[in-house]
Amino acid sequence: MATIIAIDGPAGSGKSSVSKEVARRLGFGYLDTGAAYRALAWAVAEGRVSRPVAEDENFDGFDYAISLNPDDFWVRSFGVDITDAIRLPRIAESVSAVASVPAVRKFMKELTRTLVAQSQLAGVVVEGRDITTVVAPDAPVRLLLTASEEIRLERRAKELSPEDLATLRKQVLERDKSDSKVVDFMKPAEGVDLVDTTNLDFEQSVQAVLSIIREQL
Ligand code: C5P
Repeated sequence: MATIIAIDGPAGSGKSSVSKEVARRLGFGYLDTGAAYRALAWAVAEGRVSRPVAEDENFDGFDYAISLNPDDFWVRSFGVDITDAIRLPRIAESVSAVASVPAVRKFMKELTRTLVAQSQLAGVVVEGRDITTVVAPDAPVRLLLTASEEIRLERRAKELSPEDLATLRKQVLERDKSDSKVVDFMKPAEGVDLVDTTNLDFEQSVQAVLSIIREQL
């Protein structure tokens, strides 16, 4: 079974880019768990999932595949490559609603564990919101990446086109607010190391994470 490096954090904390780079340097796989929630929001919007997910007490899944290779990242659902589509603002706006459904979270937890178990890799850096607490509470390394609200918004703004900026603040903060009603990813749980990247650049953030991993593995 692959060694799990569990990394949680809010939007713009640097969690995705840092996790991907850490995976590359360790020769580990990289698993973006938010992609599955985004893919489900996409599938619902496209009418590919027919039953109303919100009322589903036994959500039994959807067609989903993701690459764990940090150098060849893709996401597919129902035969469609949705790597780019799941980053659209309309998906970010609708994802929290599907992520708040208990049956969906239960399914995603099993899906994540299965993807890691089947990976045949020495290790996988798994990033999300509830990895340190729910999905892999026994992982040998558990980290929470944070950054001040101002810095998180600034980082996200750099990834977007100018016309998207007006809705950015509302989107990021509202999404974190809805998400944190379901799981607490703003404070480290017991035994979880906190890495505050507010005053760190990308390379410094990667080094901070790598040094904790080396210390603990
Ligand atoms: O990490 P990312 O911003 O791509 O995650 C998209 C959404 O997926 C989050 O806003 C949250 O609603 C949901 N999510 C979650 N639990 C995770 C990862 C993501 O609820 N472990």
